[in-house]
Amino acid sequence: MTHSTATITELPGAWRQKAEHSASLARQAVVCEFEARGEAMANERTTSSYPYWLASHPCPSWCVRTDRHSARDEPDDRAHDGEIMSVALDGMPPIVISYPEARFVAPELQFRLTAHYREKEPRIYISDAAYQLALHATLDEAEQIASLLLTLVSQGRNHPAAMLASVNEQAVRG
Ligand SMILES: [Zn+2]
Repeated sequence: MTHSTATITELPGAWRQKAEHSASLARQAVVCEFEARGEAMANERTTSSYPYWLASHPCPSWCVRTDRHSARDEPDDRAHDGEIMSVALDGMPPIVISYPEARFVAPELQFRLTAHYREKEPRIYISDAAYQLALHATLDEAEQIASLLLTLVSQGRNHPAAMLASVNEQAVRG
């Protein structure tokens, strides 16, 4: 399928009017949505103290934000979060993080269960200490990652002689 490169001003009269009318309606709809959203957020801040969505989607047992969910939460922030679990990678050079104060730390991988309240099942958020990595894995994908890692760990632990031979071969060839 090809897309036309014609602009509105190149269209014949009636078509141009139709395009301009459609564009005007679309612009107005976006303005109305913006204003209604602002009004809805303001009303939630002033008239309700309990987030309505928690009634139908209560916190799962792993949510650590139970006391922090608020009617003021933006729609995108209406999510349950689990505790952050991390693994420090001490074999790597340290990195600098700046919060709460600048210091050297070992890079680390961080994992956390998270689920927007309308999601069917949680995902696993994967990050690092510097927050340069931000990945979400479904539970099935996380299971695959865990299985792959366990396979690699098993291979590494159960066949050290084979691994050393391979390294020596490469050293000889290199
Ligand atoms: Zn929660």
